[in-house]
Amino acid sequence: MSTCELCAAPGGETLWRDGLCRVVRVGGDEGRAFPGFCRVVWNAHVAEMTALPAADRRHLMNVVFATEAALRARLAPDKINLASLGNVVPHLHWHVIPRWRDDSHFPAPIWASGQRPAAAAREVDNAALAAAIAAVLSEEVAGE
Ligand SMILES: [Zn+2]
Repeated sequence: MSTCELCAAPGGETLWRDGLCRVVRVGGDEGRAFPGFCRVVWNAHVAEMTALPAADRRHLMNVVFATEAALRARLAPDKINLASLGNVVPHLHWHVIPRWRDDSHFPAPIWASGQRPAAAAREVDNAALAAAIAAVLSEEVAGE
């Protein structure tokens, strides 16, 4: 599957990873427009959640929820959007998108037409975000 962009490259700056999946911070224009935008990417080339064994599905969602929790704790957005589409890149990944009422697309999905000019940039510290994700996940493991 050499034509798959998520098999060929991480898809952003890696904040956390294990043997099954990774959390990346989305860069480029999307990352600037939506500060803190992360993707949780399954490492293997699989298209659908139900193609994974149940334990792997739970693990992936635990990482998605840890990323959501870390983004809420660090950035206090007005809302978090979770989405799994995969129509363009059919390699399992979840979008975890902090949203603010003054962002360019709120309340529409980020893929819809823009509603207003972009808000002032918000600073996101990748190292602090990575540490927050790791902390949430280590608490979960400790609690199991
Ligand atoms: Zn792939």
